[in-house]
Amino acid sequence: MKRATKAIHAGQEPDPRTGAVNTPVYLSSTFKQDGIGVFRDGYEYARTDNPSRRSLEHTLAALEGGRHGAAFASGSAAAAAVMDLLEPGDEVLTTIDVYGGTYRLFRQVYERYGLHFRFLDTADAGALLAAASDATRMIWVESPTNPLLNIHDIARLAAERPEGVRLVVDNTFATPYFQQPLALGADLVVHSLTKYLAGHSDVVGGAVVTSDDALAEKLRFYQNAAGAVPAPFDCYLVQRGIKTLAVRMERHAASALTIAEFLGKQPGVLRVYHPGLPEHPGHAIAQRQMDGYSGMVSFELEGGLAAAERFFGKTKLFTLAESLGGVESLTCHPYSMTHGAIPPEEKARIGISEALVRLSVGLEDVEDLLTELESALS
Ligand code: PLP
Repeated sequence: MKRATKAIHAGQEPDPRTGAVNTPVYLSSTFKQDGIGVFRDGYEYARTDNPSRRSLEHTLAALEGGRHGAAFASGSAAAAAVMDLLEPGDEVLTTIDVYGGTYRLFRQVYERYGLHFRFLDTADAGALLAAASDATRMIWVESPTNPLLNIHDIARLAAERPEGVRLVVDNTFATPYFQQPLALGADLVVHSLTKYLAGHSDVVGGAVVTSDDALAEKLRFYQNAAGAVPAPFDCYLVQRGIKTLAVRMERHAASALTIAEFLGKQPGVLRVYHPGLPEHPGHAIAQRQMDGYSGMVSFELEGGLAAAERFFGKTKLFTLAESLGGVESLTCHPYSMTHGAIPPEEKARIGISEALVRLSVGLEDVEDLLTELESALS
């Protein structure tokens, strides 16, 4: 099956008992045992496994081309599950422009448990690989990154990483519709399902997908042991969103590219970040490893914080809010919002300035979005 078909059918066969074409929402915390330890289809207790979650996990695994999916209560809970695969003393190489919540999780939670993180300020695969030490056990990248939309060469990182180093890709911005990290050689894919996969800004969720049986077993153990799993209704919402992933992503991507090109011609816009622009430093790699550039655009205004504040005061369709990937357009001030947890000197080092604006381009008519941007900028 192609991706658009998998999004609608994988893991979502009609219910065997009733023929319902949607996976029912199984609101049951526990399941009858036919004798001690005799479970029906493996279901015992809803934290351990439940039919709504299992169905979603099959859909996610199929979409990413992986063998196993594990759903969590948020993208951050999914990241925590991946950290649990490591041992105290292990080192993770990552980049400074990961999502601010991921940075906070690594620095303020997992460093206390003896994991070491090195936040490099480069998307150059050679420089990342050269930084590996004997203690390195994991490379964690986002591609495109949040908010500067840098591109990592996933295939090169996978091919050239030292033995024993796992490659994790946060695929939230690209989605499996546009990018397949496991096929490029990654071991684990992480998602905030809250974003494009669910797609309607009505649910928080996360997932990890892998084809490695041993890693999947550890993730299943962790799901049950730590318990940060999504509720059945949340699984239904995500799965319902995924059904339209293909059509949504095509439209998000087309409108975002139009807007990025428009912004590049506006006086008062100093710089535009979008991997679909030929001048973007990661454009050639993005062309190779992505089937579309997704719906995010960032840009820097002339005039610092005051200009950014004036801009946010003038938009209506672009709502100032955290998050991204929904049907409605959102805008955000990464410096103080998504990346507020990163110290100012680190933000300065990587180019997240007070005049940086991030857009999540929604599914409204692009002409309306362009009209609004033109008027807000003028
Ligand atoms: N990864 C990326 C790239 C994100 O943008 C986010 C949230 O904004 C997360 C992970 C965390 O996901 P959640 O908010 O679902 O915990």
